[in-house]
Amino acid sequence: MSDCIFCKIANGEIPSDFVYEDDNFVAFRDVNPQAPVHILVIPKKHYASSAAVSDNSVWSGLMSSAVKIARDLGLEKNGYRMVINTGEQGGQSVPHLHLHLLAGRNLGWPPG
Ligand code: AMP
Repeated sequence: MSDCIFCKIANGEIPSDFVYEDDNFVAFRDVNPQAPVHILVIPKKHYASSAAVSDNSVWSGLMSSAVKIARDLGLEKNGYRMVINTGEQGGQSVPHLHLHLLAGRNLGWPPG
């Protein structure tokens, strides 16, 4: 989508340091990190939110990309959290599906 900031990151229009890329997904560091490791994993194709996804391959690709990144960064030992905010009450601020991968401190539970 032409006015979507994450589409622009995914297609290189806005420069970003990708920590992961394959044919369908990219991952980059969050500009306002909530933990020492805070990575966003997104599909290159635009979906406004998790609620807009009907193709299950998006879920398998998104999750397997996130797990691979966590493994590659050595996050398994101390653990990590994956979060997908959806819609206004879910705390979603960027209307392009994204998975937060958080690690590097005790994240606590429940989230605030
Ligand atoms: P959410 O609130 O779940 O929609 O998360 C959106 C996330 O995108 C927030 O954590 C923002 O800090 C992050 N964000 C917004 N713009 C950028 C950007 N240009 N580069 C990296 N992260 C961004």
